[in-house]
Amino acid sequence: MRILAYTYLAAYHCVDCSYKEFGVEIISKIDSFGNSSMAMTGKHIPDEEPHSILDLDENDIPIDQVDDEGSSVHPIFDFEDSWELDPDFIAENPTQHLACEDCHKILARYTVTV
Ligand SMILES: [Zn+2]
Repeated sequence: MRILAYTYLAAYHCVDCSYKEFGVEIISKIDSFGNSSMAMTGKHIPDEEPHSILDLDENDIPIDQVDDEGSSVHPIFDFEDSWELDPDFIAENPTQHLACEDCHKILARYTVTV
């Protein structure tokens, strides 16, 4: 199943915006002795710290990534399973949209049929 979005900083974010925030790139480095090594670079990976290669998901976002509030970054696979729908709210608004907090792209639509 593909990752639809991520939750962090108490909101939903699309894969592109999540990658901009947490994504990493694997780079190979060659030191002055000609030895090559692999390293990761990304906004949340400190340059100055030596680090091991982290486990990445399908979008090159580290698994177990933590946001600025100290909460885990959660991948969302399925809209219907992930959204806790309030029955009263749903009764008035049967069609719900999952939108990115940053770019406002609509990622999924879900209509409740009663
Ligand atoms: Zn977005």
